[in-house]
Amino acid sequence: MTHVFHRQLKSPLPVAVSGQGAYIIDSTGKRYLDASGGAAVSCLGHSDAEVVAAVKAQLDSLPFAHTGFFTTEAMEELADRLVAAAPRPAGEAAARTRTLDKVYFVSGGSEAVEAALKLARQACLDRGEPGRDLFIARRQSYHGNTLGALAVGGNAWRREPFQPLLMPAEHIAPCYAYREQLAGESDADYGLRAADALEEKIQEVGAHRVIAFVAETVVGATLGAVPPAPGYFRRIRDICDRHGILLILDEVMSGMGRTGHLFACAEDGVVPDLLCIAKGLGAGYQPLGAVLCSAGIYDTIQGGTGYFQHGHTYSGHAAACAGGLAVQKAIAARDLMPRVRKMGTALSERLQARFGNHPFVGDLRGRGLFQGMELVADRGAKTPFDPSLKLNARIKARAMEAGLICYPMGGTIDGVRGDHVLLAPPFIVEEAQLDELTDKLAQALDAALADIAH
Ligand code: PLP
Repeated sequence: MTHVFHRQLKSPLPVAVSGQGAYIIDSTGKRYLDASGGAAVSCLGHSDAEVVAAVKAQLDSLPFAHTGFFTTEAMEELADRLVAAAPRPAGEAAARTRTLDKVYFVSGGSEAVEAALKLARQACLDRGEPGRDLFIARRQSYHGNTLGALAVGGNAWRREPFQPLLMPAEHIAPCYAYREQLAGESDADYGLRAADALEEKIQEVGAHRVIAFVAETVVGATLGAVPPAPGYFRRIRDICDRHGILLILDEVMSGMGRTGHLFACAEDGVVPDLLCIAKGLGAGYQPLGAVLCSAGIYDTIQGGTGYFQHGHTYSGHAAACAGGLAVQKAIAARDLMPRVRKMGTALSERLQARFGNHPFVGDLRGRGLFQGMELVADRGAKTPFDPSLKLNARIKARAMEAGLICYPMGGTIDGVRGDHVLLAPPFIVEEAQLDELTDKLAQALDAALADIAH
């Protein structure tokens, strides 16, 4: 009998005992190919000796020093690396203020989002605009489960039970070509039209009230890897700039190399004012998150309040930063970004070949080793399955039976929960493992569809 409980309060879970590259092994010896890294966490697989050694060395020398008193070499070096790799703004005026050259460390994704929201609000206060009290975010988004992150998150069903406790936030449509692009509309035109929903919302609520626009660069936990249309985020950046509104990009899932670029927004040619990362930063070896903060915001707060009114006991934890640093060194030394792009293409081709004509697969999409599948009851009408069938949960269960970890989710489509599968295998995944992934996913999907047919 277990005294632990999780989201599914009662369901018994296998006991995970060891990891071997892309596999997790349970107490019965069963091997599971980890095709989702939990939820896009385990980018180096589960047994990276270098990362483990780096964490152990830090634990041997000093496990923890409170950031109110000390900095550590691991934290400083990790920040240096992140800043050096961060996307650079084009143009002189922007370059001065928008360079992401400060890093605020936390222990996970929700904490990163909370810190970004508060940094943005404090920057508004410190530049003399206390009337800015509202965030705009997008429907079908996920930013975490703490109250601030939940308020900006776009799934109404997640917010509902806690609504009286949440700060007000406005939501616009996501950039979601499969469902929102019009017939005959080019990708570029769709990108601009989708971005213009922000302008409309700003006009509706009043620009003087808006602190920041918050968005995942590539949507993850609600829709299964939906990349933005071309030009979408450049237009969003322009709109924000015109109204003095900050841009917060949440790359908790899509960042740290998942898309084949260390920062996903680099591919979209935009630099946000605040950039949230976590998951792949510690790669599961340590709980770690961070906010990259622009020089402009840092200087504004420095010249105003003089300090950031925030903090957590474990911010910048020494062993977590040592783990994160070792992960970054491994990604660079092993030249893993080109590998992610190559294996991402290999995965996407396999998914297209196997599921491209599947009667219940509506869409396949993604970037790098961040791929998603949307399931529909009717491909022509794009009708989601009846949520009470719990197709995504059945796929998860059937995949676990087959020895595959994928990340099915019930995202919301026009107010109805739909079924999606997120795939985020480790950057070290081999071609043969991609074959195993595709075979087992097909097996799990068939079994789950057979379950609901009965
Ligand atoms: N933001 C995004 C985009 C996420 O996908 C997640 C988690 O899935 C979070 C924030 C929250 O991160 P955490 O679960 O580490 O608090």
